[in-house]
Amino acid sequence: MDKKTLTNVALRHRAVFLDLNREDINMHSEITVPVAAFIQLLNENGFCANEELLHALNSVSPYRLAVIAECINEVFGLDLNWAPLVKEWNVPTGENAADHLITFIVNQFFTTKTGFKGTTLPCGHFIPEGTFPLERYNGCPFCGTPFKTANFVYKGQGSKLKELRLFTVEDMEHLFSSLLTSATPLDATQQDSLKLLLRVFPLPENPNITMKETAMLVVRMLVEQDMTDEASKLLKTPNDVLRYLWYEKTGYVQLIEPRTLVAHARKLYSHLWGPLDRGLDAAQEMKNNLMLKYDRKTCRCAARWMNAIPLTAKQAAENMNPKRGMWVRMIHALRLGEYSRKKGFEHLAEILDVFYKQDYTTWQGRVDKARIANDADKTLALLKERPGFFARCLFASMLRFGSDKTLAAFNDIADKLPARLLLSLGNAAEIYFDPKEERIVRPITGVMKTIEPNKLLVLYSDEARKSMVEEVNNLYKASITRSFAAQKTTSKTLYIDPSLYNIPISVGDRATTIQDASCALMGTRFPVEGDAVRLFMQWGKGLPAQHLDMDLSCRIAMPNGYVEECGFFNLTCAGAKHSGDIQHIPNMVGTAEYIELSLPELEKVNAKYVAFTCNAYSNGAISPNLVVGWMDSANPMKISEETGVAYDPSCVQHAVRISEGNLSKGLVFGVLDVAKREIIWLEMPFTSQTVRGLDSASIEALLHKLGAKLYIGQLLDIKAQAQHLSKVETPDEADEAYTYEWALNPAEVTKLLYREVAQ
Ligand SMILES: [Zn+2]
Repeated sequence: MDKKTLTNVALRHRAVFLDLNREDINMHSEITVPVAAFIQLLNENGFCANEELLHALNSVSPYRLAVIAECINEVFGLDLNWAPLVKEWNVPTGENAADHLITFIVNQFFTTKTGFKGTTLPCGHFIPEGTFPLERYNGCPFCGTPFKTANFVYKGQGSKLKELRLFTVEDMEHLFSSLLTSATPLDATQQDSLKLLLRVFPLPENPNITMKETAMLVVRMLVEQDMTDEASKLLKTPNDVLRYLWYEKTGYVQLIEPRTLVAHARKLYSHLWGPLDRGLDAAQEMKNNLMLKYDRKTCRCAARWMNAIPLTAKQAAENMNPKRGMWVRMIHALRLGEYSRKKGFEHLAEILDVFYKQDYTTWQGRVDKARIANDADKTLALLKERPGFFARCLFASMLRFGSDKTLAAFNDIADKLPARLLLSLGNAAEIYFDPKEERIVRPITGVMKTIEPNKLLVLYSDEARKSMVEEVNNLYKASITRSFAAQKTTSKTLYIDPSLYNIPISVGDRATTIQDASCALMGTRFPVEGDAVRLFMQWGKGLPAQHLDMDLSCRIAMPNGYVEECGFFNLTCAGAKHSGDIQHIPNMVGTAEYIELSLPELEKVNAKYVAFTCNAYSNGAISPNLVVGWMDSANPMKISEETGVAYDPSCVQHAVRISEGNLSKGLVFGVLDVAKREIIWLEMPFTSQTVRGLDSASIEALLHKLGAKLYIGQLLDIKAQAQHLSKVETPDEADEAYTYEWALNPAEVTKLLYREVAQ
């Protein structure tokens, strides 16, 4: 069993993995010397162990403790370089635009520097005397190349220890199965954990996988192990096969059309400055990458999968219709025609025949026809055949055919829908029916767009629109209550942790970053304890020295729509200080930028929100292995005079790692609500080279969207009511205990929403 993998996955759930049985733990053991040292190390990094874990640790070998310590070191990047460009950067260097201009002129137009007083740096730049105060920098202030790295970080300044618990093999197996069967799409951290666990645990006999995207991850693993017949059982429609082949090609589990990918590549590699613009090359490169070329083995495998599809030829062809263009190319590239003439591939032959002759009518075509004819009864009757599709066009249908008629039809099929879909309707209704509200959608490429409200909204009065929202809410709550009431339970009491009333249920906004240290759900609010919040960003780990310019910045929303920014272009402003712009990374150990926010100063200037952002100034997406986050402590947090290092793992409140599949150019990773002194964790990608492209209206729209969600606590209240459970004050006295630790596994939370539905 790969213990390092399991240790890493457990840490994400605030736990330490130990290969032992709970029953064997001696709860009266004395702490051994190695364990005492290990606990000391945990404390320095901001953790402590609960009682069960403490006693369990006493029974494991010191070597095992060393492996765990190493994992913690790696997760927190303790061996990396955390020195920024400026030493003691909380004291501004006073550098200004004139310093940059003078240095530029001297370097550009004078080949010999005789006649100028100054210093030539290892990067070749000559810094004239009287410009930058060189003694304050770890590198070249002109081109942002670091010359000095640091090999230490601060420790133990944090004011709060996070408690770690024990994870046994049994807990890990439970986590594995809850991820496999999750009824909501997995976010990046969960996907990554599932991939890691698939290598450790065997797949169960009948894995009850409900999400297509999860099935793709499993299919890939089976194909890697040459178990293509087992994989076949997970591919139930032609589009499942297409989705898998496309996942292999693009790395995305969703079906993104080639033209979208090409257009996105062009946008990502275009640059503000002409000579650096590589947009067209990147688009061509993507086109080449997407060319379809398959070897015999893959062709044969795909042909067998298609032949085994458990649908009639007509159903299969209708399923292929929406991606007809992609299919035509795929059939050719996979030589499916050739295979269809072979013995044993009769079902494939039948499917291709119907597909090419277009000998099928599509359901979508019938709906469109009825809708254009304004035939409400016919349209609604057709929509009832496909509950999932009905849900997606429910609001538009309400505006078009009237809410009474539409909702009555919808109510007939509501119980057939997965509960997560119903919930997301409730979340979305308030925003959809508000004519002033811009909706934010997040297409697969990760960059959010705002879209205009539905034009039909103007036909309805304020009251009519409000009652539509209420009707949608009543409908989904009634349906969820029915499904809770239908579940058999022997429990009489339940405990709900008060913090669960602050955590929204995640149904749509999937995080694309990986959280190595602890899982939190998007929308989680972190109270700020001290007077300072320190943002950090570390990037370039494991990469050779090169130009790789990533920027940490923040945007301060002031009253009356006025906005202040702090970033490489403006190192200090009221309430914020930046540690200097690094544009080149040193060899292998990475580099860092920081921003220090002062709450008293922000309060003094009446700042409302501060949005934390990072983005790539170099071409391309945000670099993999980039880590961003923030620190907070009731104690003062040090900044080194010698090196500028300002990182302390024990003060880290939340940190995320950018995953390899990230398609976006910039990311908002948190918002500080100044008056409430709390930080809301959220993720909002944007494509603009600098922070100037981000508008504060979309931040407020997203906060509003998070605010309009159903919270975990509220869902548990519905359950308590439907199942006649009484609430108790402590987890120990409850038949069912819903604690914060329970919520750290989002797959476990969404299990509440699971119900048997007819597909
Ligand atoms: Zn330089």
